[in-house]
Formats: sequence, C-alpha cells, structure tokens
Amino acid sequence: MAVAEMGSKKFDYAPAPESRAIVDIQPSYGLFIGGQWVDPTDGHAFKTISPSSEEVLAEVSEAGPGDVDRAVKAARKAYDTVWSKLPARERGKYLFRIARILQERARELAVLESLDNGKPIRESRDVDVPLVAAWFFHYAGWADKLDHAGFGSSPKPLGVAGQVIPWNFPLLMLAWKVAPALACGNTVVLKPAETTPLTALLFAEICQQADLPPGVVNIVTGAGDTGRSLVEHPGIDKVAFTGSTEVGKMIARSTAGTGKKVTLELGGKAANIVFDDAPVDQAVEGIVNGIFFNQGHVCCAGSRLLVQESAFDEVLESLKRRLSTLRLGDPLDKNTDIGAINSLEQLTRIRELSEVGESEGAARWTVACELPDKGFWFPPTVFTGVSQAHRIAREEIFGPVLSVLTFRTPQEAVEKANNTPYGLSAGVWTDKGSRILWMADKLRAGVVWANTFNRFDPTSPFGGYKESGYGREGGRHGLEAYLDV
Ligand code: NAD
Ligand code: MN
Repeated sequence: MAVAEMGSKKFDYAPAPESRAIVDIQPSYGLFIGGQWVDPTDGHAFKTISPSSEEVLAEVSEAGPGDVDRAVKAARKAYDTVWSKLPARERGKYLFRIARILQERARELAVLESLDNGKPIRESRDVDVPLVAAWFFHYAGWADKLDHAGFGSSPKPLGVAGQVIPWNFPLLMLAWKVAPALACGNTVVLKPAETTPLTALLFAEICQQADLPPGVVNIVTGAGDTGRSLVEHPGIDKVAFTGSTEVGKMIARSTAGTGKKVTLELGGKAANIVFDDAPVDQAVEGIVNGIFFNQGHVCCAGSRLLVQESAFDEVLESLKRRLSTLRLGDPLDKNTDIGAINSLEQLTRIRELSEVGESEGAARWTVACELPDKGFWFPPTVFTGVSQAHRIAREEIFGPVLSVLTFRTPQEAVEKANNTPYGLSAGVWTDKGSRILWMADKLRAGVVWANTFNRFDPTSPFGGYKESGYGREGGRHGLEAYLDV
C-alpha cells in the first residue's frame, strides 16, 4: 500500500450524524389559519420527502382557493381588531419572543431543515438558523422605531401581506418575509414551497408558543396553484415573492393595476471576479462558498467565475484540488459539505443544462466522488472554455455547476459581468482597495461582495436589478416594502 493511500485511509472521517430524535415530525399536517390547525376544505394533501433518501417525511395539506380565502380573512380580522391597534413596542415584544424561541429550538429547526431540504446540517445549523433568529431580533428592534426610519413621522402598515417563498432557504426566506412585515404592523399569509413545508409548519407552532394573537401569521401549504390563489386574492394589500423569474413575471402581470404593493426577488447569474493580485487560497474558498454552498441552490450564487487570464492556471488548479476534498453525502452528517439536490425536478434541470454546456463546446470537469444510491445528487462540476454566448453562461442552473470565463482588463471584467439579464450580486477579489471601489461602482448588481461571497446580515439590504426583480429586503431599506410610503 502506498504511503499516500495509507494516509488517506488512516485519516478518513468516521460518520458523525446529528441525531434526528430531536424533531417530532407528525404523520400529517393541517393548515395554520387564525391560530388553529384546520383541515383543507376539499381534503387534498401531498407528501414531502427527504431528498437525500426519498423517504416520505409527512403528508401536508394542499390549500385550495377557499382555504386561501379563509386565511386571508383571518389575517384581515387580526389586522383590524388586534395587530394594527397594538402599541408598536408590544409588537416588538412578540417578535423578540419569537426570536428567542427560534434560538432555543435552533437544533430542532436545523435538523428538520436538513431533512426536508437536503442541505448539510453544517449550513442549516451555522448559517440558516442563526440568520433566521438574527432577522427576527433585527426587526423586533425596528418595531417601535419606525418613526425614525426615514419614512416620515408615523408611517402606516399596508394591511395583509401574501408571501410566497422558495425551497432553497425555507426558514430563512420565511424570516426575511415575516419579520419585517410584522414589525411594520402587517399581518401575513405565507405559502412555503411544496418540497420544503416542514420548518414553516414548525414556525407556526412557535407562533402559538409565543402567544402571537391568532391570525397574525397564517401558513397555507400547497404548490403553484395555492401560490397563485394567494397572490391574486383581492383581499391582500402586498405581495412578496421569492422564486423563479418566470413566475415573478407572471405575478408582475397579474398584480398590475390592482394597487397591491409588490416586491420580487428572482434569479441571478452572478459574476465572481478574480484578479491576478488576489490571494489565491482565499479566493478559492470564496469561489467554493460562492457556488457550492447549499448545492448552488442560491439565487445570488457566484455561478460565473471570471478569472484574469494571467491567474487562470493557478486558480483552476487550486480550485480543483480544493473541490476534491469536499465531502458529499448524508446532510445530517456534521462533516458533509455537499448535500442533496432538493428535488428530482431540479436535478433533471441541472443535468439538462450541464449536457447543453458540453454540447455547446465547453469542457466539463467533475469531482470523482461516489454518489449515494438513493436520493438526488449532483457532484460539484466546473466548466471551462465557456463563452458569453453559451447557455451555461446566461441561464441560471441553480445547482453545483460553475462556468469559468476569463478576462484581461478590469474594463473587460465589468463588461462581461454586466452582460446578463440578471443583476442580483457580484464578487470582486483583488488586493487593491481602489479597484474594489471602481468595480463596485460599475457592476450592475444589488450586492457587491469584496474579497468575500455569500455573506448575509440582517442590517444589509438585498435585492436585484433587471430580471432579478425589484424591492429590497433586509435592514432599514427592507421596512419600506411593508409601509405605506
Ligand atoms: P418557482 O418560482 O416555481 O417556485 C417558487 C415558489 O413559487 C414556490 O412556493 C411555488 O409553489 C410558488 N409558485 C409557483 N408557481 C406560482 C404561481 N403561478 N403563482 C404564485 N406562486 C407560484 O421555482 P421552482 O420551480 O421551484 O424553481 C425553478 C427555478 O427557479 C430554479 O431552477 C431556479 O433557477 C429558480 N429559483 C430561484 C429562486 C431564488 O431564490 N431566486 C428560488 C427557487 C428557484
Ligand atoms: Mn422535502
């Protein structure tokens, strides 16, 4: 046995699965309307599975138009009779209470999120859930300070918000939607994604635990039809959507002229730009975090790597070496870096676009790793020789697939980075502060990260340009979406 082989055997990781005993998943769930668990009127239900094992986790109710109507009416009643009448500091107290319960139940939430979504526990435990609590703490603090937020002396809430969220950060997207809405004095009806409803349903339980007045938060589960019933319901004053650009455009059309206030957080095709003076090891970590975090199911993922030509060989070699050390497998294992693809549908989309990449002439490189037999998996993949015209350079793959392009001058980097229908985020890696500022000024993206990537903070606004949507979430800016200003 070669020394290297012995070494790798000797230091192989032992399985370190997080126990799932902490979560108590019910066999079936009703809808959370008016502070109660109720059955859907027509009795329809669907199953949610664990994408890493295809095990059925629970049966979940599918809300029809009548159920959505009940939820909107419950939210309206809570708005009119309780929530809009409460002193702002009392609203803040409820939000602080929810934030504290989220922290107390953090492990439970992280395990459930990883089970239902397929993301590594390392991420749900260290990124998603802490940010969820931070979002509630942040907006809890705003509740009684709205007069000083820069929107006039006593800005008013909008009323009832209809919120539709995706499956990539199920609980975090809930927090981004619910926390500012409630802080500003609105009530909400939220629809989680059909493949990841369980943490939203646990959040409903947390609302009960916090004694939140009935109807302030309502959770209706279901797929696209339920989402459509909600955003088209005449009884809501505000639509907040995160998801695909395709559905975002449909919502923009169906809400036009209705007087509903709308914010849309849609797709992205972010450029992560590495100059030849960047510290290579740090940049490589940033590239990995940019596109392989959460299996690349990230709207602001750094899915287009732009490397300065003079650094190309060094960066690519380091990147491939680093990718070979990533561990793919059981999302509940504490050593797992890459979890499961969220659904068979998403896996199919990633496979198809990757095949297009090859047929259009880009060179495909994949980490040699064993994929589990059950579940939905895609190994970290890098395409080189990608041109700006290739579909893998233009379309959102929403998976662990990186397209690499090169540039020579900062001007060329800016032109290539901005050559996209999207404009959600961008990254710049360089030793030069002046160049960071120059680039940030010219990049048409809502967020520009400098020498880092995929960093989130509740104080910082987030949102897009062009087909990435409109409106901002997070920070003081995020209040505007939920106030009548
Ligand atoms: P989607 O837009 O269909 O789903 C997002 C949410 O919208 C889900 O809750 C869904 O039930 C709901 N929905 C679907 N149709 C609706 C309608 N007509 N009216 C109201 N709500 C509706 O996204 P998807 O099919 O899960 O993913 C497709 C692609 O979208 C992905 O491959 C990815 O490129 C992109 N995506 C982006 C984000 C993001 O964070 N920006 C999130 C998820 C998916
Ligand atoms: Mn699921």
